[in-house]
Amino acid sequence: MNAVSIPIRTETAGCADAPVLRERGQREVFCGLTGIVWLHRKIQDAFFLVVGSRTCAHLVQSAAGVMIFAEPRFATAIIDERDLAGLADANAELDRVVARLLERRPDIRLLFLVGSCPSEVIKLDLSRAASRLSDRFAPHVRVLNYSGSGIETTFTQGEDACLASLVPGLRRDDAPSLVVIGALADVVEDQFARLFAAMGVGPVRFLPGRRADDMPAVGRGTRYLLAQPFLADTAKALEERGATRIAAPFPLGEQGTTAWLHAAARAFGVPTDRIDAALSPGRARAQAALVAHRELLAGRSVFLFPDSQLEIPLARFLSRELGMVLAEVGTPYLHRQHLAEELAWLPQNTRLSEGQHVERQLDRCRGAAPDLVVCGLGLANPLEAEGFTTKWAIELVFTPIQGYEQAGDLAALFARPLRRRALLAA
Ligand code: SF4
Repeated sequence: MNAVSIPIRTETAGCADAPVLRERGQREVFCGLTGIVWLHRKIQDAFFLVVGSRTCAHLVQSAAGVMIFAEPRFATAIIDERDLAGLADANAELDRVVARLLERRPDIRLLFLVGSCPSEVIKLDLSRAASRLSDRFAPHVRVLNYSGSGIETTFTQGEDACLASLVPGLRRDDAPSLVVIGALADVVEDQFARLFAAMGVGPVRFLPGRRADDMPAVGRGTRYLLAQPFLADTAKALEERGATRIAAPFPLGEQGTTAWLHAAARAFGVPTDRIDAALSPGRARAQAALVAHRELLAGRSVFLFPDSQLEIPLARFLSRELGMVLAEVGTPYLHRQHLAEELAWLPQNTRLSEGQHVERQLDRCRGAAPDLVVCGLGLANPLEAEGFTTKWAIELVFTPIQGYEQAGDLAALFARPLRRRALLAA
């Protein structure tokens, strides 16, 4: 694998080589369809057509319920019993649904056919459907496909699958450039763009772009920087194009953001004094924003159930910047290479787990009796009923949390449940 390794300051090797408890069993996580909720807001002329069941439709609609009053940019083509009887009918029906959609919505320039458990079970070949429909509707509309099925993906892997599907269609350009990978809120993207400009790093592009015709070019001169830790397939596809990863922690908290921006700037040969001058105002604001939260959170213990793959960078932020004690850090998948800098920043002997056997993990959680549990919606209510204070992990994906200006908001997400619990107790 190609990677430019930028040295970062670490006091210890942390958990770089720590053993990981690997568990396989019943899991409590959303499927990859959930990614549509933030991706449809990001790519403004894209449409996500889930090819699935009524369950899939309910999941996406309830997760993105706020869209009810707007013209939505997602929908579900329902596979019913008639389609299950014959694939030929399912393909013809899908073509009809797409034709009707594109006729009614000429603003759509990029259409994703999103696979689900039902489309996989009946072996509907969505890549063939996408290429057939692309031929029919080109050049106005490009049709791509990826899987968001619960059989293949958890939660944030839907974004990875979506971005990986974009890579083959990116323009090739071997000139030096930086591409930031991962959907970020527009406000966060704009902040980072300003910081890269202030450091003299460029040209900088973001994947996904905000419009179908605004995607970055990628080639041998491209250095890419992951903004999210769950993009293994996208990274692989970019490297097959000749792009090189800049190794860095993730931009959560003041320290993560600083190391992430530093890594990019050093890869572009920016002198340290220029980097420091560009970053110091943001660093100071972020540090100031964390003070009040640290007073509440320092010394409190936290148990993170596996959910979004953000757990390890979050645990690093909670321990290094807020002084929290890590009871266990679970993650659905552990990509050791992409998380090497994060693991090195975790306290030694942190209990790490990968995958899930939910009953055993609940037992460990009860045994640890943490002050705060970060978990999915399905576990939060039962744990609250048992007297635990919980934080819904999904909020960490839906809320802008990256960068200096968001460091205080990120800490507040963990402080709020403890404050609420204290008020109720009072
Ligand atoms: Fe459920 Fe599978 Fe549809 Fe996801 S893709 S909502 S797991 S049926």
